[in-house]
Amino acid sequence: MRATALWVSLSFIGCVPPAGWSGAGWTTASASPPAPVVPANWPGAERPPAPGPHLPVVVHRGGGRIVAGEPDDATRWISYTLKTTGYAEATIPAFEGTDAEWVGMMSCARAQYAGLPVDLLEQPPASGDYVLMVVGGSAADMGTTGMWGWASTGEQAVVERGVGFVFSADHHPRDRTIALCESLSHEIGHLLGLAHSEDCSDLMSVSSACGNRDYEHGALRTFTETSRAILARSLAAWGAMSQLSEPERISGVVGDATSGLSPHVLPIETSQGYRQLPVVLDAPKPLARALLRVVTPQGYRGEYHCLPEPDASCRVEGNHLAGSYPVGEERGTWHILVEAYYADGEMRRSSWYSATN
Ligand SMILES: [Zn+2]
Repeated sequence: MRATALWVSLSFIGCVPPAGWSGAGWTTASASPPAPVVPANWPGAERPPAPGPHLPVVVHRGGGRIVAGEPDDATRWISYTLKTTGYAEATIPAFEGTDAEWVGMMSCARAQYAGLPVDLLEQPPASGDYVLMVVGGSAADMGTTGMWGWASTGEQAVVERGVGFVFSADHHPRDRTIALCESLSHEIGHLLGLAHSEDCSDLMSVSSACGNRDYEHGALRTFTETSRAILARSLAAWGAMSQLSEPERISGVVGDATSGLSPHVLPIETSQGYRQLPVVLDAPKPLARALLRVVTPQGYRGEYHCLPEPDASCRVEGNHLAGSYPVGEERGTWHILVEAYYADGEMRRSSWYSATN
């Protein structure tokens, strides 16, 4: 799935900055700041947790160095959106706000996603994939302006290992909790498959037609039911995929333990100067042909045809298959599945088998 980058323009291009905006800071006649807008219970927080696997969303406040690349890789801090600016890398400063702002932003964003299979974490999980939101600094740190946040956007699908940003230092309302919460929730929405919305009541809208945003008086926007339905669908698809084994995820082919096919994947051998992975199989009935599906140690897909020809390097004859998959110099764990095309027209797939060299 390809990810595209969408601009988020809450402050300048999208919604008009609140009255009192000076461009260089927040100026009003009043000397005392308003009370923090941190309700005890954000709307939606009462929704019960969603069943099934939850997608970890790591919200990082410590800053760091992000490298331009494609596709995103949250675990290695590689960003496609940064690549589109022409920068090779960028250093994002740590979140400059107060602890109260951080805690308020996180509890508010968790309430926005309550009831959906998402966990907002502040540290990466011990294992497994996650998406990353970096909160800190300014759009200028990534060579751009006029944005409060930016993220790769899935087309109604989770951006695998996606990376997004909230430029917290560009958020200038005196009480920033709601503005930060909306930016964070909006950017996570992109990573989870939401595009911009024309519905002004939706958190994903950035249309100038939606008028002024007042972050000072608790006017928190949330996701509409339409957006929540898209989030639920894309997260359900991610959840189903997360249950698959690695070769199944990479190849898109699910093994079948009930097929009656038990190929023997033998140790890698060197024959005539080539390193090969031998596979033999006795099928329950005569084979017309077969296909070896392979996932290499570096995560590439391969296919190898087995034909009823005497000189084929992978050959089928009656119920029997014998062949060798050329493995080159790549080392690690290989995954192999046999797709059997029987003489009677039926096709069955074996489970995935592994060999390590
Ligand atoms: Zn956006």
